[in-house]
Amino acid sequence: MIDLYNRVIDYMRISITDRCNLRCVYCRPETARALPESELLTFPEILRICCEGSRLGIRFVKLTGGEPLMRDGVPQLVDLLKTKAGIERVSLTTNGILLSRYIDALQDAGIDGITVSLDTLDPERFKSITGSPRLADILSAVQASMARNIPVKINAALIGGGEPAWRDLAELAKTETLTVRFIEMMPLGYGSRFQGVRNDAILDRMRKIYPGIVEDSADRGAGPAVYYRIPNFKGRIGFISAMSHSFCHTCNRIRLTADGVLKPCLCYASGIDAKAALRNGSVRQALLDAVALKPRSHCFVQANPEKPLETRLMSAIGG
Ligand code: SAM
Repeated sequence: MIDLYNRVIDYMRISITDRCNLRCVYCRPETARALPESELLTFPEILRICCEGSRLGIRFVKLTGGEPLMRDGVPQLVDLLKTKAGIERVSLTTNGILLSRYIDALQDAGIDGITVSLDTLDPERFKSITGSPRLADILSAVQASMARNIPVKINAALIGGGEPAWRDLAELAKTETLTVRFIEMMPLGYGSRFQGVRNDAILDRMRKIYPGIVEDSADRGAGPAVYYRIPNFKGRIGFISAMSHSFCHTCNRIRLTADGVLKPCLCYASGIDAKAALRNGSVRQALLDAVALKPRSHCFVQANPEKPLETRLMSAIGG
């Protein structure tokens, strides 16, 4: 599928639940309400949408949430997405709390990569951001994934913590063969209440601390991250700089929300009702319409008064 701005759309992020077992202050704090389960797309419905998407050129799927592993049957869904829908690469983003429990089944299902969202290695700070004391469980799940040769990325959306916060995380890539990525906070949902950390500031400091750091221009992956290599680091560092550097011209994705809306862009409220499309047999057209609606760029930095902004929580959209 090619959109109005000549971008090839081959990636779909699917939020399979808006429920989460963490209460991150910038994402889904205590007060957030979950959708009734009856409003979530069923796995057969998600599979139908992906079968059609695959026929139209969707090659990559990322399962997200809420916390996707709170829903039963994720490994089976991964398997069906690959074997029945023909999706080339299926990956998962998780907070890691339940990951150890499912890692073998995910590996058997052929998961192509796991992203673990983790904003700090400091147990006290982790608790103050997420409300949970279970940092150690996440770290052991990361080890378990790497031990099975599943590619692991750590995604950190920082809300302060200073240099110790990002440096601890970055140095995970020194000893471990994984990718640590820094994501700039976007003013969506509760995120608008927090001042994020500019990736340029982190990169400037990294250039001083690790003078040999170089951009790995050969390595772009399926997303918007820019990657760097540091001498003597086993892993790599990535930056996803939605606020300070627009990457919309390379956007290759559409999103499917937990309640069945095909979203052309994270930033805007507009979307196509995939549930109605499932009922009346027009899933193919719904996907084409979602792609045709993709705007040239997001408007997080410069407001676009003509288009309403997204008001759903990140947990319903999936990030
Ligand atoms: N529970 C899963 C996880 O932890 O990866 C998937 C859902 S979570 C919404 C996906 C990602 O969105 C997390 O890395 C989280 O830090 C990030 N996120 C949430 N709100 C954000 C915001 N306003 N700006 C940038 N990233 C955000």
